[in-house]
Amino acid sequence: MGELQQHPADTPSVGVPFAQRPIIILGAGIIGCATAKQLLLNGFPVILVAEFLPGDQDIRYASAWAGAAWHPAGGISPEWRYLQAITHRHLLRMAHEEPESGVCIVDALEYLEQPPSANSSVWGKAVASKWRDLLPSEYPPNFSCGWSYETLVTDPTHHMPYLGKKITALGGQFIQKRVDSLDQLYHLFPESSVFINASGHGSKTLIDVQDDQCFPERGQNVFYRTDNCRTMYFRNGREYTYVIPRPMSGGVVLGGVKQADDLSPDPDMAIAQDEIARAHRLAPEVVPESPADDALSYIVGIRPSRKGGFRLDAEKLGSRVVLSAYGFGGGGYAFSYGVADALVKMVEEAERENVIL
Ligand SMILES: Cc1cc2nc3c(=O)[nH]c(=O)nc-3n(C[C@H](O)[C@H](O)[C@H](O)COP(=O)(O)OP(=O)(O)OC[C@H]3O[C@@H](n4cnc5c(N)ncnc54)[C@H](O)[C@@H]3O)c2cc1C
Repeated sequence: MGELQQHPADTPSVGVPFAQRPIIILGAGIIGCATAKQLLLNGFPVILVAEFLPGDQDIRYASAWAGAAWHPAGGISPEWRYLQAITHRHLLRMAHEEPESGVCIVDALEYLEQPPSANSSVWGKAVASKWRDLLPSEYPPNFSCGWSYETLVTDPTHHMPYLGKKITALGGQFIQKRVDSLDQLYHLFPESSVFINASGHGSKTLIDVQDDQCFPERGQNVFYRTDNCRTMYFRNGREYTYVIPRPMSGGVVLGGVKQADDLSPDPDMAIAQDEIARAHRLAPEVVPESPADDALSYIVGIRPSRKGGFRLDAEKLGSRVVLSAYGFGGGGYAFSYGVADALVKMVEEAERENVIL
């Protein structure tokens, strides 16, 4: 997106004092809401505009459906690792101090099919507590090594409503509305000069964004109700299989699958059966071969994925600054609060330039 031509209608009003000029966030998923919370805690007024709000359920609203585990991603840059590390710090604090946030500390077991590559998830040992290499007797025979550590899981059925309440209590405002463009927002909020695009997959269709790198990536999980829900299992290698505990909902999430450009809202029972079978092979002590039907339910959501990875950058468009934070695919929760803190710094910088000319 290049520099936009500035004309009088595009110029933010100078009449509204800095302290009352809201930062406008498009999108109320985990990225928009975590950012709103952190901005409000730093003294910025915030308005979120979104078609789906915390508590809503639609397959296009990814944040309602995530696992959502904190797992140190392999193959990412040092900058991205740091965003995950900051997220870990926030989640840990919430797990200790705000049980209503739905964040819990659990054990993690990660089994690797191949010896770790140079850029593997082993960097997580500097962040997660109790990191330990497993002895060969502690991982299944068909794996080459493994780790155990303590990690954090976020139950979105608690965390999104928690964020909704927290944002409102801090003075943030939600407006439920679908927009066709960022330009529509500029006209709705002529007094604002900083806009954050946290619209997830919406960035593919917003008229003045139309990011062709964005693509929908369907996820489908099985929720299995069980009391045995304090350990995460992660198969790291050819097969993409996990068992993510959700202690506050009394069960585990079994996955996973990634289906590019598939928007089907209905659970595919062949996929569900395959996920149960894979989860059973990975964690037979938690997932039986044939769980009772009434202990099972199904989760379907669209990950807002982006070729080349997510955007986290600032653009000056005329007199406004637009911060883009979308395309988090399967990692939006693991990056969330690190991204939120990075956006707070970017907003500070943009507003400083607006205020101190
Ligand atoms: C099955 C599944 C399992 C997952 N597991 C994990 C996991 O274990 N760990 C993890 O970190 N992540 C996981 N994820 C990924 C995670 O859910 C996403 O990365 C994250 O939710 C993306 O958040 P977001 O705020 O960017 O987008 P979303 O949650 O999709 O929110 C987008 C927001 O923008 C709004 N919006 C979009 N367009 C418009 C418009 N034109 N007008 C108005 N509003 C608009 C929407 O209404 C919504 O409020 C999983 C996802 C799925 C589907």
